[in-house]
Amino acid sequence: MLDKRKFYINGNWIEPERKNDFDVINPSNEEKFAVISLGCKDDVDKAVKCSLDSFISWSKIDRKDKIILLEKFLQIYKSRWKEITEVMSLEMGAPLDWSSSAQTSSGADHINDFIKRLNSFQFERKFSNTSNNYILYEPIGVCGLITPWNWPINQITLKVIPALAVGCTMILKPSEIAPLSGMLFAEMIHDAGFPPGVFNLINGDGVGVGTDLSSHSDIDMISFTGSTRAGKLISKNAADTIKRVCLELGGKGGNIVFSDSHSDAVREGVRNIMSNSGQSCDAPTRMLVEKSIYKRAIEEAADEANKIKVDIASKNGNHIGPVISKTQYDKIIDLINSGINEGATLVAGGPEKPNGLEKGYFVKPTIFTDVTNDMRIAKEEIFGPVLSIIPFEDEDEAISIVNDTSYGLGNYVQTQDKEKAKRVARKFRSGGVYINGNSADPGTPFGGYRQSGNGREGGDWGLEEYLEIKTICGWE
Ligand code: NAD
Repeated sequence: MLDKRKFYINGNWIEPERKNDFDVINPSNEEKFAVISLGCKDDVDKAVKCSLDSFISWSKIDRKDKIILLEKFLQIYKSRWKEITEVMSLEMGAPLDWSSSAQTSSGADHINDFIKRLNSFQFERKFSNTSNNYILYEPIGVCGLITPWNWPINQITLKVIPALAVGCTMILKPSEIAPLSGMLFAEMIHDAGFPPGVFNLINGDGVGVGTDLSSHSDIDMISFTGSTRAGKLISKNAADTIKRVCLELGGKGGNIVFSDSHSDAVREGVRNIMSNSGQSCDAPTRMLVEKSIYKRAIEEAADEANKIKVDIASKNGNHIGPVISKTQYDKIIDLINSGINEGATLVAGGPEKPNGLEKGYFVKPTIFTDVTNDMRIAKEEIFGPVLSIIPFEDEDEAISIVNDTSYGLGNYVQTQDKEKAKRVARKFRSGGVYINGNSADPGTPFGGYRQSGNGREGGDWGLEEYLEIKTICGWE
């Protein structure tokens, strides 16, 4: 059993103010493998005080000195790649190969990209050639960063690195369900030599530390990634202090597969939703298929889902691992049963455990067809390896089904008609659109419309989230 009960505050690993142990569970075998502490308001107050004190000097530090520290951090990150990969695999169930090639690599990509952005970002400029007004971009202050378990290091780097880069100080609260990658991240920050108090880490749950951070009067901004449910509570808790609240929330992506799509489009859509065991906010969870190819698409989708292997995370290979927790497992199985009860047709998977995997939170890759957009499986974020296939007649109908959701994160379109793809992309109400399986480059903005959130992470947009803008009149 790993003892991880300390918090990283003011450059030291220290005991929490009060004992409140919390077990970390390996989702591949349901066994406890580590214990952390859930923090309290006194821990938060202590970290906020250190962040406030260190903001005075960190906010003024030279760009070149920050770049040196961030480059050192990137070197350390690369040197501990295997450890990062293994700890994420253990805590959240990502198979080792996927943990390395997708999870750990996403963190390296973000660090690398933010260093480049910091090199060129214009923190001050004249308003215009004819004006004597001047614009300054200044760090917003002390930030509370709250992250989820599904892409742990991806989310942490998307928040901590830009906050550090622009001169903010911060308290990170990683997900209590998968907290160890965040703690390893804190060790690397320490080893890179960031000044004490600039970065702090407190473990805790949402009702405790999450709420204490959101409502704290000395915290200037909360950046949150997680469920829409928690995003709403955070917004309410932050309202009295009028702090900036940046939210990256859930999704219910649509994937329109037209009859002129390339031959692998359906199979690609299935692989895409099943990766990370269906636990990605921008996963294409609703596949809309043109009626003329509906029958073929069903056969291909079921065949592809049946080919996907499910197994424990500590094995290498291209299988998918378990889902994160008992709570998530129960929620997914409840939604699969709701699909059956509401009249959708189950063509692959189902609520039973995969053969030989009775222990661990394993779910079979599951495909429903004949889904209508008013069923729970089409409306709610399932966050498991479950795909809903919906037939459509024409382009307008498909777009209106995709947009008929309270979310707006990532949508997908498959067609070889480039003009049609662009037309559809413009009509989607979402922060991201993926045409024919293309993916986003590092540094592009990531975020959602509607109840998928209100911010944009990545690139210059990611830096701007942590900046205040000052207009100075009479500069010349
Ligand atoms: P969650 O909302 O349960 O928890 C996320 C984090 O918020 C955790 O650290 C948790 O402790 C904390 N939290 C929970 N309730 C809180 C509260 N009331 N106040 C403050 N903090 C609180 O989400 P999860 O289950 O960890 O993650 C899955 C969710 O995250 C999915 O909905 C997924 O779509 C979303 N997500 C979104 C993005 C994105 O960029 N839009 C990326 C990854 C995950």
